[in-house]
Amino acid sequence: MLKSVVMMMVGCMVVTSSFADEAKITAAMELTPKVKVKTPYKALVYHKASGFVHGSIPTINRCLEIMGEKTGTFTVDLTGDVADLNPDKLKAYDLVIFNNTTKVQKAFTTPEQRAALLDYVKGGGGFVAIHAATDAGFPEWKEYTEMVGGVFDGHPWGSGGTWGVSIDDPGHCCTDHFGSEPYSIRDELYKYKQYDRKNLRVLATIDTRVSPKGKGQRADNDHALAWVRDYGKGKVFVSAFGHNNSVCWDAKILQLWLNGIQFAAGDLKCETKALPQPEWQTKAAK
Ligand SMILES: [Zn+2]
Repeated sequence: MLKSVVMMMVGCMVVTSSFADEAKITAAMELTPKVKVKTPYKALVYHKASGFVHGSIPTINRCLEIMGEKTGTFTVDLTGDVADLNPDKLKAYDLVIFNNTTKVQKAFTTPEQRAALLDYVKGGGGFVAIHAATDAGFPEWKEYTEMVGGVFDGHPWGSGGTWGVSIDDPGHCCTDHFGSEPYSIRDELYKYKQYDRKNLRVLATIDTRVSPKGKGQRADNDHALAWVRDYGKGKVFVSAFGHNNSVCWDAKILQLWLNGIQFAAGDLKCETKALPQPEWQTKAAK
């Protein structure tokens, strides 16, 4: 009897908590799609973590559904089954979004499965990587990391801190909503390896003038947080943001994601040419 009451209470708390999150997400979702779409894109959201499981996965899944519905820009199918990413099924989608899919190499185990994803993007499909979708690939599946543009190399900037972010490309059509005010975020921010900004257009970086982290920094002081790139005929958008649930009620991040999704879908034409590393970063390099 007592056990069932406790279980009911726990169940109730869970419902209340997710409802509160949903209300916050909906309230923050006052977004303007940069391109008005006639027919919403079809997005496949893959959310299976094969390594560390982020608590934010269900929140971000729901956040993407609400974003698609409220903006009328895209519809979402959710899957945790790698079998859904086969060439036949992928044909139906304009883009795929990987939500915190740690260690994809343990899910995509066959050459056919791996080729299906890479060929889909090379052939013109869109690819969006959220947070730990970059904690994946290298060294077992190098081509995945090559497509994404970098792989997790620790998080000196932890989830409990609030960190300064430099919008290095403030005129870019994914980031021009940030404006000139300093921006900071409470989230876990990654350091990357297998990363070369010559292959990417880096939009935002950790502002180490505001948030240095001593030995955690890369020697070159180049800490990308969001970028876009071409991959064959496809478009790739990467967001290091997405560890904490609260990113889903940060209107700046939501607009960044919507822009990135419209870019990946091929609708929003954004510059992908690489930029040099900002001088304030190179000056502070060790
Ligand atoms: Zn994380």
